[in-house]
Amino acid sequence: MASYETVIGLEVHAQLLTRTKVFCACSTAFGAPPNTHVCPVCLGLPGALPVLNGDAVALAVRAALAVGCSIRAASRFARKNYFYPDLPKGYQISQFDEPFAEHGHVDLEAAGRHVRILRVHMEEDAGKNIHGRGGDSIVDLNRAGTPLVEIVSEPDLRSANEAAEYLRTLRDILLFLGVNDGNLEEGSFRCDANVSIRPVGEEKLGTRVELKNINSFRFVEKAIEHEAARQEAVLTAGGRITQETRGWDEKKGTTFSLRSKEEAQDYRYFPDPDLPPLAIDEVFVARVRAESPELPRDKRARFAAELHLTPYAAEVMTQHPRVAAFFEEASMLHGDAVRVANFVQSEVLRDVTTHGLTANLPISARQLADVLALVDAGKISGKQAKEVYAKLRGTGASAADVVAEAGMAVVSDAGAIEALVRRIVEANPRQAEQLKAGKATLFGFFVGQVMKETKGSASPQVVNDVLKRVLGL
Ligand SMILES: [Zn+2]
Repeated sequence: MASYETVIGLEVHAQLLTRTKVFCACSTAFGAPPNTHVCPVCLGLPGALPVLNGDAVALAVRAALAVGCSIRAASRFARKNYFYPDLPKGYQISQFDEPFAEHGHVDLEAAGRHVRILRVHMEEDAGKNIHGRGGDSIVDLNRAGTPLVEIVSEPDLRSANEAAEYLRTLRDILLFLGVNDGNLEEGSFRCDANVSIRPVGEEKLGTRVELKNINSFRFVEKAIEHEAARQEAVLTAGGRITQETRGWDEKKGTTFSLRSKEEAQDYRYFPDPDLPPLAIDEVFVARVRAESPELPRDKRARFAAELHLTPYAAEVMTQHPRVAAFFEEASMLHGDAVRVANFVQSEVLRDVTTHGLTANLPISARQLADVLALVDAGKISGKQAKEVYAKLRGTGASAADVVAEAGMAVVSDAGAIEALVRRIVEANPRQAEQLKAGKATLFGFFVGQVMKETKGSASPQVVNDVLKRVLGL
């Protein structure tokens, strides 16, 4: 029996985070009452003419450059004609045979896969049909005309797992660029997958099935896995794969047919006569390149090389642009990035929530740097730093005030600690002898005993010094 490999290409639609729509001055803000962000242009009223939003072009170019594409000096908008209630003009302005960017790539670090990008083009989003109870539907055109980029990969992905990594990598790139907020659930980042299988060793691609509108990373993986298994079962049973579009039924955990190739639409693309060719010159591209924020992979490499983080810590500190900025600022204020990263990982991150481009950080970079500085100065212990952090969360208070108010000042009185150390040494004579005889690992045992007695409030530096003196080390 033949064994098969899965071949996947992905089409990602990402909304561009412009303030206004791509061909009119209406707001793109999410969540307004239905049909309040509309005008003759995005309603498709007769005689209204589109005017291209320069900010949308800049963000689109930024995205295309980040995935290694070359930018075409001239490209063209085209009309994609179809009828649907959420599309008031009866056509979508898109790009067809002349996209503005092409021939890029995205490298997947975990899978070690080089995924070629066929093209990136600009288009406008449609509105939304909202289906209510009682069978009524309303059309909300607030979203109609929101700028999108479509990023089309070559069929270079070989598993559901790789497809998910590709999507996460792309989402992170766009998020760090400030181009898109990466919300699959809210539909600002959407994905269609072309899935086929072929016998291992075969060059020719199998018949492909398009999976539409998968709205979470988990479902992408499950839908592709299921679809590949379905196709293999069909071929193994001697059947043939039909070229079609399928949806994902989350409840049943299966894909289902939406329409066959015969029912596929003919979009009758033609150049939009209302819009001139899109000219993007080298000066514009150079400016966009210069203004582009640092990419996540570059940030990770810099955190590892310059701030001496482990690859894992660098990865964790770059999980979100706001987390990365918080970490960098706190590192700059405190001076020891590794300690900042450790504290962020062990304490801060579990309290961080993110939504799109925003993140709720429990304390400020200043507060975090101050907490660690209090530890450096021997004013509080490492254990107390965690308590101070817990008290600081969600307040604008200063770390020093919290320490003073809680009466937390550390025991760094050498006299008090010495008395305690002597008591502990007397209570553990055997360990003391072994340590003096050279069993160095027992040093930690005594430090631990002192910390236990002082509930972690002894200054580690003072404890070290006193122990060495008392034991004559
Ligand atoms: Zn409008």
